[in-house]
Amino acid sequence: MASFQLNTLSQSSLQDYVDCARRFQLRYLDRLSYPAVEAEPALENEKHQQEGEYFHRLVQQHLIGIPLEQITKLANTPNLQKWWENFQSFSQKSLTGLTSQLPEITLSAPLGNYRLLAKYDLIAIENGKAIIYDWKTYRKRPRNEWLAARLQTRVYRALLVNAGAHLNNGQPFEPEQIEMIYWFADFPDEPARFEYTTAQYKRDWDTLTKLADEIASAPSYPLTDDRQKCAYCSYRSYCERGIRAGELDQAETEMEAEELFDVNFEQIGEIAF
Ligand code: SF4
Repeated sequence: MASFQLNTLSQSSLQDYVDCARRFQLRYLDRLSYPAVEAEPALENEKHQQEGEYFHRLVQQHLIGIPLEQITKLANTPNLQKWWENFQSFSQKSLTGLTSQLPEITLSAPLGNYRLLAKYDLIAIENGKAIIYDWKTYRKRPRNEWLAARLQTRVYRALLVNAGAHLNNGQPFEPEQIEMIYWFADFPDEPARFEYTTAQYKRDWDTLTKLADEIASAPSYPLTDDRQKCAYCSYRSYCERGIRAGELDQAETEMEAEELFDVNFEQIGEIAF
């Protein structure tokens, strides 16, 4: 199978590498499409994923100034209606009045042989503080400890320190000026907030650099020993790690499964108004 030359890394590809090097290889080097249903019940999960993507698009459009009435009309399923209402309350409480809001912003910086790239749902800058917002449509509110360890939390904050000077009058943000907030559309009053420190930044950047070096020089990409990871992985038939998808109900404690329905900003298109 032909392998592609990889130039960029993202929180998703790094997370895949950490979770299973073979999954990283199949998805980003071999660019193998998704041969298996990731979790049952397939249709319901697919619908939830599509709604999650659509919700992100609605919020994007709102943040770039499309009138609320126009967007509200498009929130036309029970989930979308509920999420959109929750978002409007949150937005009125937390976003209204912020002087600088930067939706859909992409940052990148060199990382070893690669460029590390991240697309942010929203960065808000107020009184010298930068707040990273990320919207999640998970059906379960993850534990903060789980979120803190995810590469998204580490990449997004570290990259803002490393590549965000142009957002701060040419001065890099100090880690202590940065906070990341996950806002959950189904749990609107339980956001997860992560502040940042210089020590955490140093540790994160060091980890990311080591990961990039490891990926660049990996002699092979072995299958994970943790077979739990295979239950919801789209490559399990390919890897001969089972044919049937995991039941999502059984996976409720495994947020990795929920993350399968996470929205990668890269996948989101535009809405025509
Ligand atoms: S099925 Fe298992 S071993 Fe294969 S790519 Fe997925 S997680 Fe890795």
